[in-house]
Amino acid sequence: MDLRALELHELRELFKELGEPSYRGEQVFHWITCREAISFHEMTDLPKSLRSRLSELFSLELPEVIETKTDVDGTTKFAIKLKDGEVIESVLIPERDHYTLCVSTQVGCPIGCKFCLTGTMGFKRNLTTGEIISQVVIGRRYVKEKELELPLRNIVFMGMGEPLLNYENLLKALKILAHPKGFNYSKKRLTVSTVGIIEKIKKLAKDFPTALAISLHAPFDDLRRELIPIAVRYSVKDLIEVCREFPRIKNSRITVEYVLLRGINTDLKCAKRLAELLKGKVFKVNLIPFNPHPELPFERPTEEEIEAFQRYLLDRGILTTIRKSKGLNIRAACGQLRAEIQSAFN
Ligand code: SF4
Repeated sequence: MDLRALELHELRELFKELGEPSYRGEQVFHWITCREAISFHEMTDLPKSLRSRLSELFSLELPEVIETKTDVDGTTKFAIKLKDGEVIESVLIPERDHYTLCVSTQVGCPIGCKFCLTGTMGFKRNLTTGEIISQVVIGRRYVKEKELELPLRNIVFMGMGEPLLNYENLLKALKILAHPKGFNYSKKRLTVSTVGIIEKIKKLAKDFPTALAISLHAPFDDLRRELIPIAVRYSVKDLIEVCREFPRIKNSRITVEYVLLRGINTDLKCAKRLAELLKGKVFKVNLIPFNPHPELPFERPTEEEIEAFQRYLLDRGILTTIRKSKGLNIRAACGQLRAEIQSAFN
């Protein structure tokens, strides 16, 4: 059993079943979350005999970090080998006053976006809740061990995979990450990024609304379906409507990720439609100039084209930023993550 996959109430139950007081479960929850323990022997407020017993019953070993690479701007990639030998990636990104950790939710991805290398590798399996949480523990331990000055404050589910297609494990991970007696991440600092699985967005809205980002990439159905095959099932209009109804924390905006692909989705017609779709104060747009890669048939727009696209949206009252290139350009929509990691590190 992976204790990192258990919510607090489940740990309490487990300790009762072990014949221990339930508050021991709370102590262990505290240690394996915000104290990032990797051994029961660290848990000095537990009796020695209990620590030994727990060590015999459970393991707190983390998946192995087989590679850590840091870019000049401080962006750090972890290649993490799971128990079955599959490798996933997490990325620690320095921001002005904190770090953001970008975590994976699947091995590979079933969506197959045309501008994404993860999409080309196909889908292997969902990550377990424990594997999702382990990435956070690895990131936090790294920040502590390296004595980095900024706190790891944001978690974005933007790595490999489509988080909402691993819904139950994602939901459990979100609950563990937000629990005040554990990691205690505010919901607005947990961002779920999706290509727009509408029925799951509605479910998340009811179950556990967090910050939301949608990878739109095209304002027209036909173009979007060319770029994101699963979009066949969801129209742009329906997706935007569902997002408008999504409960937003303290009126924070929903992020619309838009990869700029030269000559594909950067013309005036696209900008105009995007401005119509997103009018109001619900959304903010994050433009992501595509980073060319030899295996992908797209080009990056010129700086003038990028700025003109942004200017058009800004002039129509749409809050629009251009993702700054930070060596790795790692803050891409999920799709570019792997492409950028590969081009930067290989
Ligand atoms: S862009 Fe995201 S959703 Fe699309 S294939 Fe890549 S990882 Fe999957």
